[in-house]
Amino acid sequence: MWNLAQGLAERRAAGLERHLRALQPVDGVRARHGRQELLLFCSNDYLGLAGDDRLRQAFTAEAARSGVGSGASHFVTGHRPVHEALEDRLAEWLQRDRVLLFSSGYLANLGVIDALVGRGDHVYQDRLNHASLLDGGRLSGARLVRYAHADMRQLEERLRREVAGRRLIVSDGVFSMDGDIAPLPELAALAARHDAALLVDDAHGFGVLGDTGCGSLQQAGLNQDQVPLLIGTLGKAAGTFGAFVAGPHAWIAHLRQQARTQIYTTAPPPALAAATLTAIEILGREHWRRQQLQSLIAQFRTRATQLGLRLLPSETPIQPVVVGDAAAAVDASRALEQRGILVSAIRPPTVPEGSARLRVTFSALHTAADVELLLDAMAGVPALRREVSG
Ligand SMILES: *Cc1c(COP(=O)(O)O)cnc(C)c1O
Repeated sequence: MWNLAQGLAERRAAGLERHLRALQPVDGVRARHGRQELLLFCSNDYLGLAGDDRLRQAFTAEAARSGVGSGASHFVTGHRPVHEALEDRLAEWLQRDRVLLFSSGYLANLGVIDALVGRGDHVYQDRLNHASLLDGGRLSGARLVRYAHADMRQLEERLRREVAGRRLIVSDGVFSMDGDIAPLPELAALAARHDAALLVDDAHGFGVLGDTGCGSLQQAGLNQDQVPLLIGTLGKAAGTFGAFVAGPHAWIAHLRQQARTQIYTTAPPPALAAATLTAIEILGREHWRRQQLQSLIAQFRTRATQLGLRLLPSETPIQPVVVGDAAAAVDASRALEQRGILVSAIRPPTVPEGSARLRVTFSALHTAADVELLLDAMAGVPALRREVSG
């Protein structure tokens, strides 16, 4: 018999077991867990659109017209006018030639990387890249070359070492567990200089960064000639579900033929595409949501610094507070939960050993008073304060 129970027991003893919690939303930032109401600071619904009435209406209207499931993959009978409208709208908004929809960001990353490189090629990845990017590299069979986080000198040195085959540089736009933004202009320059392609996964920048919410590439002023492959997820700031890759005609045409995780899976529900179309309109227009986030981030960082919380250099709604030890991070998260505040503890292997943390995230629907509640609660947890934890 396989001794799975022993492995589980070891994970539990090391404080690495993950726990599920069924949460019933109360409003955009609160949810009920059993009888307790919790104020959430760990969702990726950055703009507060997941519960927006206009998205709900678009969703139900399309479901009334088209039913719930799409019934088949895109190439069979699952592709609908509303999918096409969403692809066109996203391309236009992002100023990329074309867009290809995927059912999730995880699938997009697997499918895109696997379709572009294979044996004999090289994939260069930042050490802190999202798990789905690493898995995409593994699936492709290309050789994985990792470089230290945001270390452009090391990346360049590694690019110099290998010249055979195709080279693909892959990076998070905003690093999901640290909240910092990748050195995008430098990545684009290195890619150009070494004849490599660049793929940016902007799961946490899309909707949040840039003048009109187009993401980290818009903020950095990079177009599709400089960064041919932009992947965005729709389950975070857009408040719905799914993902896309945007880029030049030839690249997207290739991916439409070759991305197996797009071809061999059921097309997303048309109602979801309709809700996302509505989300994209709102995203571009309602700048107050991004402004509110910036104001909450500034408020949090100022007072958290005064309190001696160990922040990371992040200017995005992802504001981790580093604890170090995995079990201590879990205890800190539990202590906050007892005070009615939910912030999830992130432990290895999601983050490097010894850097367990509470990953605080903000939503445009949080108020300044909500952030004060969070800070007051954090101030009462000794493990979170620099003086005490060393
Ligand atoms: C969340 C996330 C994904 C996965 O997107 P899903 O649509 O949730 O599957 C991919 N990359 C990064 C950086 C993410 O944070």
